[in-house]
Amino acid sequence: MADKRAKNVLNRRAFLKTTGAAGAVVGGAGVSMFGLAAGKDPNSYTGLESSQGSAQNFNRERFAVDQPHYVRDQVSQPDRIDARTEVVFSRFYKLLQIWKQGTTTLADLPEPMQSYYRTHTTEFEADLHYVTKLYPLLRKDHKRYGDSLTLAGAWSDAMSSVWPKWDSDPPEVADFPKVDQHGELQAPLKMKHPTKTSKLIKKVAHQMGSTLVGITKLNPDWVYRYPMKRSGFPQNEPIEVPAHWQYAIVVGLPMSWDPFLANPNYGTSFDAYSRSRVLAFRLAAFIKKLGYAARPHVPGTDYDLVVPPIVIDAGLGEQGRHSIVVTPELGSNFRPAVVTTNLPLAPDKPIEFGVQNFCKSCKICAENCPSGAISTGDKVVSRGYRRYQLDISKCHNFWGSNLGPVGCRLCVTSCPYSRKSNWLHRTALTLSSNDPTGMVDPALTWLQKRFFEGPEASKYYMPSLGGENASYREPPWWLVAEDFIDFKG
Ligand code: SF4
Ligand code: SF4
Repeated sequence: MADKRAKNVLNRRAFLKTTGAAGAVVGGAGVSMFGLAAGKDPNSYTGLESSQGSAQNFNRERFAVDQPHYVRDQVSQPDRIDARTEVVFSRFYKLLQIWKQGTTTLADLPEPMQSYYRTHTTEFEADLHYVTKLYPLLRKDHKRYGDSLTLAGAWSDAMSSVWPKWDSDPPEVADFPKVDQHGELQAPLKMKHPTKTSKLIKKVAHQMGSTLVGITKLNPDWVYRYPMKRSGFPQNEPIEVPAHWQYAIVVGLPMSWDPFLANPNYGTSFDAYSRSRVLAFRLAAFIKKLGYAARPHVPGTDYDLVVPPIVIDAGLGEQGRHSIVVTPELGSNFRPAVVTTNLPLAPDKPIEFGVQNFCKSCKICAENCPSGAISTGDKVVSRGYRRYQLDISKCHNFWGSNLGPVGCRLCVTSCPYSRKSNWLHRTALTLSSNDPTGMVDPALTWLQKRFFEGPEASKYYMPSLGGENASYREPPWWLVAEDFIDFKG
């Protein structure tokens, strides 16, 4: 893999000649300030949606590798996720409901939650802390300080108001075409060639509003061992990976730039969740009309599988230190959905464009993370693969107690790769991805820290926890509630 990457980069002499030792991009404050100004151009939003697919403009072929960068551990075995308990969204909200009814002891919890918590005491303490301490404080602070976030809340609610629902039938039924209004069932059409079909599917996905599209064969290690609640699988039986889940098509797009930059309070994941959800449902409908099985796995929580490694397998990016996939075009500001299908397709190859190396020294996300959920250390073996590991309980307890409309995303906002799609970002990315000198990444990290400094991590907390309810940047003018609403009236 290293050889392949070495072939991809320019040689040292050519690189220095081409870039003037990277001076064009890291030449100091003048260039950076110019870049900041360029970043204000509304036409340089990250991943401006394009129905022509022109926002997917990174030359992936030059960085293609045969195997994804995460490494399969030689000793331990892959361990698929029990989504009933191991996915925080799944167990936690059940816990909240149960404890709201007055039950606060472990012995009163139903299975499998009780057994899970007995063997995962750190998670139990963290979830208990949220339910009994943080949640009541959040309610109190929201009453006192929440007016400022009225428009942010309205924006978030509006973005989640279009929300296609999963078919609750089992996948053997829900994923397949149904009889049409004439009582006819479309048999699978004979497609000419998988390569042509992939080209068609990518074009259609872009046309539907997907900024990035990638295709991979589905690795069954990424399918949950036990299902999420609404998936159509029997709740307490292990998932047998359906035979028709042969390929995974990854689609997705970014969150809108201005609210995103004012995370955690003014951004909302529902913005991009809703749009990628709708487009995955549309793409599945398109494939079913060709007579093939298709199932959308979509945000917020309607997944039967773990999405980030599938995004990596499909050649769209690499995992960053914050455990989110970093894509060349959108950085970490990419909200994916997956469509599994038996439509024969030609898979893409994974890519390596320099993120693994960059993350070793950057650590900006870890320094900006209010909860300490992101490790500053090395990768660890988790579930049979070596990768960066996020402390999900810490992350959840912070974003779940944030006054904004659900979430944090500061690690995404502060990541140097998550920049607007302007000339400066593209130049920096080109230099970083091709640099054999090792000079560019530290310089870019320095610039990022120097010119994109955020508040201290402690200031992001709600006032009852000693914080100032800070945001990374000022909110966009159209989300400043005090400028539009008379709260004293
Ligand atoms: S979302 Fe916020 S709390 Fe969670 S890892 Fe990212 S920065 Fe940390
Ligand atoms: S902020 Fe830095 S360390 Fe974190 S994911 Fe982005 S590049 Fe990697």
